[in-house]
Amino acid sequence: MKHNKFVQMSVVFVLSALSALSALCAVSADAAISPLAGLVIMLDPGHGGEDSGAVGSGGLKEATVNLRVARYLRQLLTADGATILMTREQDETVSLQKRVDMAKQRKPDLFVSIHHNASLGKTKTNRGEIYFNALDDGLPLQLANEMSRELGNSRLASGSFVIPGGYFVLRNNSVPALLTEASYISMPENEKALSTGRALTKEALVFRQAIRKVFDHPTMRVEIISKNPAPTSSPFFNLIISADRPIAKADIAFEDGQSVPLGFNKLPSIGSVYNLFNMKPLQAGEHFLRMTFHGGDGSISTQRKMTVQVHLPISEAVLLPIASYIPEGFNGIFPVRLLLKDENGNVNQQALPFQIEWDSKNVNGKTRSDGQALAEIELDGTERGSIELKATVDGHQAASTRIAIRHPNKAFILGRVSTNLTMEGLEKTRIRYGSDRLAITGPGGYFFCELPNIFRNLDIMIQPPAGYAAERRRIRTEGKMVSTPEIVLAPVAPELLGKKIAILADRSQDDWIRPMIRLFMQGGARIIRLRTPPGKESLPSSHTKDESPSELKGPAAGAIAEANRQSDLDLLLSIKRDDVSAVTFRHYYKSPKGIALGKAIASFLDHARLQPRAVVTEGSDYELGHTGATALIVALPRHTPPNITASVADALYKVLTMKPARSTSAK
Ligand SMILES: [Zn+2]
Repeated sequence: MKHNKFVQMSVVFVLSALSALSALCAVSADAAISPLAGLVIMLDPGHGGEDSGAVGSGGLKEATVNLRVARYLRQLLTADGATILMTREQDETVSLQKRVDMAKQRKPDLFVSIHHNASLGKTKTNRGEIYFNALDDGLPLQLANEMSRELGNSRLASGSFVIPGGYFVLRNNSVPALLTEASYISMPENEKALSTGRALTKEALVFRQAIRKVFDHPTMRVEIISKNPAPTSSPFFNLIISADRPIAKADIAFEDGQSVPLGFNKLPSIGSVYNLFNMKPLQAGEHFLRMTFHGGDGSISTQRKMTVQVHLPISEAVLLPIASYIPEGFNGIFPVRLLLKDENGNVNQQALPFQIEWDSKNVNGKTRSDGQALAEIELDGTERGSIELKATVDGHQAASTRIAIRHPNKAFILGRVSTNLTMEGLEKTRIRYGSDRLAITGPGGYFFCELPNIFRNLDIMIQPPAGYAAERRRIRTEGKMVSTPEIVLAPVAPELLGKKIAILADRSQDDWIRPMIRLFMQGGARIIRLRTPPGKESLPSSHTKDESPSELKGPAAGAIAEANRQSDLDLLLSIKRDDVSAVTFRHYYKSPKGIALGKAIASFLDHARLQPRAVVTEGSDYELGHTGATALIVALPRHTPPNITASVADALYKVLTMKPARSTSAK
């Protein structure tokens, strides 16, 4: 919002008191007929060109309807004084990425993607759905509520829902974004209505009315008077925030969910200036704040994001040689860990440049954001007595240590564990050796073992972090006093490693899902368990004229909202029992990944001779097409014997650990 209505209104008041001068009357007239002056809105008619979107049984294309509504809406909003940008002007193919890029480039105040719904099953109610970017519950949620209310009050739909959406154009958008599905094109009687100009102008009027209402309380303009990221050299930060009107409520939270309490005070200055601070110390490192402000006049700010960088003074750095001494004549890399500490002796989580010097050599690097680094000290075997290491961190002398060089009187084993995927060192691997000895790999994957006698062979037990299997290895020392074994591990399931998978299922399925989840986690997957109470997966009643608008409630909706608030979810598996006669995989009709996944799992079950054969089909389940991630429904008949669930679990695991075919998401 670029104009300030209050200023204009007060101008008008003073002028009418002075009684009209014609030039000044133009100002008042302008304010009345241009309620959206200064506002830039990008309209995004969904689909187009090669992608017709949903097609009604009478042949009406969603892409056409979307564009027509967008054109009407453009006309209306332009008349209201707004500047309208369009992601497409005609029946042309525009990729989702391109649409998002346009918004990034032009930075509109608002992005509205216009779609019309379709259902494969019989839809009883022609409900409207307004999606807002699930990662931004500021302005997008407020406008979604308003649009949903207007839509519910119109005859275009029999009710309307507000849904936290995970669609590509929403979650990847840098500006406040919504996606509308005002009604169903797949319902024949509604398709008829949508083919007339009347319903489409009505729809445009509904959206315009909602936009007017929200921007009638102009967006609150908020300025954070600090550069972003905001640096602080103490565990406390202090941000000065100035708004163009009094702030009645501030929604501020850390993105990682940490519960350091925050304070928000008005400063005794002219205007609305506030002070945001933390009341308990923050750890060193980066902290991400998400904030939305509400004015007492109903206005709301756009969502603001801020990074606070806590740089605590490096009171101390610690140099930790991996082995306690250097064997005489050692020729190669001797690893040393560098650890930053704050004045309380805690790890000082900061990425800072460092230099370590010894003799007349040196090595440079940067600590990781966790305040640690590995320094590889190169030795040529000519060093005698001891070497002194001096560490400089961020230009300041921070630590020094002396490492003795001596003849080993025990077997000296300086090993390294790495992964064949990246050849990088694998940290936090536990190495058990001897009868009860333990070494743990640090940065770079290095570990050190010392044994009283010299062995030809040393059996060690390797317990790597999740994603890699525990195994026994034999280290051959060839009877030498010093050895530097390299242990390369292969991940259990490279395709699962690091993947974030949400599993939606009720507790009644735990008996067979739990072991499967354990297997996924051993494969290195990150699992998010979403639950629905048993037997309650239907949609709740919609919001109609009498009800106040709210987020779509209900178990599945709550779970999807949670899934959509994850910023990096790869897959959503919704596992349920319903009235199917065979194991059924349902996918969103436009999701190539979902289709491929369903087919691959079914083909595994075919090979396992599952009876009756597994079925892959398009689904109309709420979870499909409403998430940012690929979603697949795994539906089992109500009474499924354990041997079948075991086969399904097995097939799911096998397919998810296979290398998938690459494709892009549909919406
Ligand atoms: Zn669509």
